[in-house]
Amino acid sequence: MDRAVFGPAGSSEAFSQKYKSSLMAPAYLEAFGLDCFEYQCGRGVNIGRESAEKLGEEAKKHNIKMSLHSPYFINLSGDGERVEKNIGYILASARACDLMGGDRVVVHCGGLSGRTRQEAMKNTLFNLGAALDALDGEGLGHITLCVETMGKINVLGDFDEITEICRRYERLLPCIDFGHLNCRTGGAVNSYEAFGALLSAMENRLGRERAESFHAHFSKIEYSKGGEVRHLTFEDDKYGPDFDPLGRLLAERGFKPRVICESAGTQDADALTMKNIYLNYLKEE
Ligand SMILES: [Zn+2]
Repeated sequence: MDRAVFGPAGSSEAFSQKYKSSLMAPAYLEAFGLDCFEYQCGRGVNIGRESAEKLGEEAKKHNIKMSLHSPYFINLSGDGERVEKNIGYILASARACDLMGGDRVVVHCGGLSGRTRQEAMKNTLFNLGAALDALDGEGLGHITLCVETMGKINVLGDFDEITEICRRYERLLPCIDFGHLNCRTGGAVNSYEAFGALLSAMENRLGRERAESFHAHFSKIEYSKGGEVRHLTFEDDKYGPDFDPLGRLLAERGFKPRVICESAGTQDADALTMKNIYLNYLKEE
């Protein structure tokens, strides 16, 4: 699609009250006016082959682009035996994503585990290279890993680290989580100027093609000194960030990210709010 697309992370409260199975998600999201869905495997990749394939068929039928969020316990900053396990979780995520007809897997780099940021970065780069080789080895090279910017300060994944990782491996895409970046900067990523600077920096570092098709997470998130505290909904008017200036920038600059809303419970409604804001700006272009 030649514009930004919008959808939720996992099942909203409204969806879960109506339906038991996420197999209904694609039909529901299409009727809701959304474009994509990020399947949540944060606690582990537990979906069976048959369910994943069925979900993929539904997604295809209802024109819903699929991505998958890999387990939160993945940590790429280490070395030794545990790394192999973590690469195994990435592979399992990519397999499930492929069965769903998806094309993107979101990955967290993980905590520093007592290492300096430099050491953690060095290991993460090495381990991501190994993960990409492992994907190729299983014929899953068409699945794009999206490396996410994180909300807690003591975790690898600020904006510079993520764009540097993506600069090193041209097959990776950044998953820019604007709420996370707002958290770790104490509220500084919440304006037309701040969002614009990030989009420009991404384009400078990664080139136009990759920058314009980036993966995005957007939700309002409470923060304290250490960064992220909890995900909120668009009802929040204290922490932000506010999507409006970003929607305007995406339309003005012709960026076409896949924007996943991670609001706490209202992720479908809030994704639609973002889509409508963006489409209104797009009309003016
Ligand atoms: Zn994430």
